[in-house]
Amino acid sequence: MDRKNAWKEYNEKEIADLHELNERYKTFISECKTERECVKSTIALAKQKGYRDLDEIIAAKETIHAGDRVYRQLMGKTIALFQIGTLPLEEGMNILGAHIDSPRIDIKQNPLYEDVELAYLDTHYYGGIKKYQWVALPLAMHGVVAKKDGTVVDIVVGEKETDPVLGITDLLPHLAQTQSERKASKVIEGEDLNILIGSRPLQKTEKNAVKEQILQILKEQYNIEEEDFLSAELEIVPAGKARDYGLDRSMVMGYGQDDRVCAYTSLEALLDTEKSERTSVCLLVDKEEIGSVGATGMHSVFFENTVAEILDRMGVYSGLAVRRALQHSRMLSSDVSAAFDPIYPSVMEKGNCAYFGRGLTFNKFTGSRGKSGSNDANAEYMAHVRRVMDDHKVAFQTAELGKVDQGGGGTIAYISANYGMEVIDSGVPVLSMHAPWEICSKADIYEAKKGYMAFLSE
Ligand code: MN
Ligand code: MN
Repeated sequence: MDRKNAWKEYNEKEIADLHELNERYKTFISECKTERECVKSTIALAKQKGYRDLDEIIAAKETIHAGDRVYRQLMGKTIALFQIGTLPLEEGMNILGAHIDSPRIDIKQNPLYEDVELAYLDTHYYGGIKKYQWVALPLAMHGVVAKKDGTVVDIVVGEKETDPVLGITDLLPHLAQTQSERKASKVIEGEDLNILIGSRPLQKTEKNAVKEQILQILKEQYNIEEEDFLSAELEIVPAGKARDYGLDRSMVMGYGQDDRVCAYTSLEALLDTEKSERTSVCLLVDKEEIGSVGATGMHSVFFENTVAEILDRMGVYSGLAVRRALQHSRMLSSDVSAAFDPIYPSVMEKGNCAYFGRGLTFNKFTGSRGKSGSNDANAEYMAHVRRVMDDHKVAFQTAELGKVDQGGGGTIAYISANYGMEVIDSGVPVLSMHAPWEICSKADIYEAKKGYMAFLSE
């Protein structure tokens, strides 16, 4: 049973819509390279569509009614948006979930040092990266420095044409004989992912003059001291914008498409949903790449509490109402799938993997070694999803993440499934997943948004 390639079916209008969506998407992922930047842009886009801050509604003791649009964020790193439906919330929501954190390299709390007149920032990588892919590339620094006086300084270096870029050096091939014999996981060691940031000594300075020069620049440009790194969140990411990929411009190459490709298409689907019977939700979470931990990860009770607050503002709060609203919900837990790569066919099983151009991908289960760690979606729910996709003419496919016992991976699906709601993993296939520059098919991005809109409409 083979699935069709969506490109073969498009008319001119659909091709135009597809390219327009992908232009907006490329802008979003070029500007949003951290979870904080994603939340900020999400709020700006949502406000244009009439979404209001739930915390302000709570403070003003206002009530919420069918048709209202509200959002709530936590710590600037996770956000939930709601389009209130005409049916009671207790009857459940249609939820689109995705994560907005991506693999990257984080700056340590005491990072700045000098070694033989070169200044470096020490780092600890975040998420699953192949460390050798992150050397000898132009890198940018995005993040915040929170100061003791309560102010928060935003930092983005390396994105404008006129900005300097940063990076991690690699050994020249001429002297890499010993390095080349090491295992790929040891070619570049985690502790050696040090960011070279300066080489010019400050004049009339005896000790650590290069580091002193960097500190002076930080003081002049951002008014921060060395100690302020203690309370900073600075992320090192690939520098530069997302681009069209391929001579036929059929693909997008960009940083952080895992999982911003699902996050952005889910967000657009919600924002374009004018009204619905069931309440429509887009939930964008942080920390998926390191196990969904912490206040802003999916394991947090943030979403549950937000549902409770909404029920309260609707005048129908009870502990039972919250549980019912969650249990009666349906969710597409969207995260990227590994696309079949003909250069590496041995890790995939051709009959059950995702292909570029065949549309939104559903994983009934994920997990590894006998489906361990998986959310295994209910067959009845899978039937519901198939029916919705077919009724709305959405191209979709089903997949597993690689061959049995080849590896595997997890998502946020199993966490929301704890409420007893129907959840299935879905998403967009990616080539070179977790590499600095990942590749997606524009057709799959287009079909994802169509699929999410169809899901919200039912
Ligand atoms: Mn992911
Ligand atoms: Mn990932």
